[in-house]
Amino acid sequence: MASSTTRARSAIAVPQRALVALVIVALAAPMPARAQAKPPLVVRAPALPTTPPAPSDALPDSAWLEIHIVDVGQGDGIWIRTWNDGDPTNGRFDGRNIVIDGGPDASDAKNAFYQYLEQHGYHAARLDALIVSHPHNDHYSGARSLLKHFEVCSYYDPNAANGSDFANFVDAVRVETCDGAPVAMHRGFANLGAPAWGSELQVDWLWGGSINPVAMGGSASARTNNASLVMKLTYGTQNVLFMGDAEGKARNGSPDTPRYAERAMLDDPVTAAKLRATVLKIGHHGSESSSTNPFIAAVDPEIVVVSSGRRNFNGPFLPDRTTLQRFCTHKPTTRIYRTDQGDAAEGRTTANDADGDHIVIRTNGKTTIVEARQNGQPFAVSSCTP
Ligand SMILES: [Zn+2]
Ligand SMILES: [Zn+2]
Repeated sequence: MASSTTRARSAIAVPQRALVALVIVALAAPMPARAQAKPPLVVRAPALPTTPPAPSDALPDSAWLEIHIVDVGQGDGIWIRTWNDGDPTNGRFDGRNIVIDGGPDASDAKNAFYQYLEQHGYHAARLDALIVSHPHNDHYSGARSLLKHFEVCSYYDPNAANGSDFANFVDAVRVETCDGAPVAMHRGFANLGAPAWGSELQVDWLWGGSINPVAMGGSASARTNNASLVMKLTYGTQNVLFMGDAEGKARNGSPDTPRYAERAMLDDPVTAAKLRATVLKIGHHGSESSSTNPFIAAVDPEIVVVSSGRRNFNGPFLPDRTTLQRFCTHKPTTRIYRTDQGDAAEGRTTANDADGDHIVIRTNGKTTIVEARQNGQPFAVSSCTP
């Protein structure tokens, strides 16, 4: 009995398998094009809540929001300071310190960003937020020395791994305290939340995603760059878009065909509608890999800020002139400010390119003014200069 049952099952099973195989072949047959298509490259996290905007007429003319793009050489180090009305109970204008990245130098003696904060009277101040845009050492290394001198209340990064040195840095962040309370860790796009930096400031997180540039012919470094947190601050009618090292193409790719993070933001209608900004902190130090033409058209900035130095990237230095030219072609009234102002003509190298070419942006929510420096001295920009 047992063996005949087994035979009977086998007799049925064989044609079933053959049928399944036929169905698979039939499904597979018309799909050669799709079989060659690349897998999905963009993993989009759900949209995050945003802090509601304050109407610009609710902002006093004297309530200046300051954004200091500090000359740290090749890297990013940005300090944002909200206005302080002296009233800590109304939920706004509380003089918050928000830092994006810390430059490339971990030692206090070399760290131009740390020294800048000390020079501006923020000895032992509290950092309400420390944002590490992405785990490259020209962005996070300098933040190490900030941890030694400042309390950090909240920490943000895209939760992208990049080796043991960065992991050790994050471990050092985890033990930070703020008024005795543990630092609030916000790692990964879905965990960024709506920051409480004051009701006068609207915060939009626009990117911090997972894409695979390697599958598009890009490098592992491009993958890390394109994990960058992209943040937009809106203050009254004015706004500033911080790109980290987010990119739009490979160096030799067409500037008319956005890829990577720029494409992901342009392809999402909700995000694309938010890209417009008064000020753009350009992506990836103004590399040829940043700022494709469709992206520039969507942001349509009046002011472009480039944070870069004199590091030789196997030939090119950043920013790339053709990238800056794209902004001038788009809108000839665009003003471009650089933290490597004059550094090439001055013959500087990575050893001495943090030479005081700071860019300070002030906005009262109605207008935006820029104070630029070259070697610490006031420097005017009157036309679009690539
Ligand atoms: Zn960088
Ligand atoms: Zn980078």
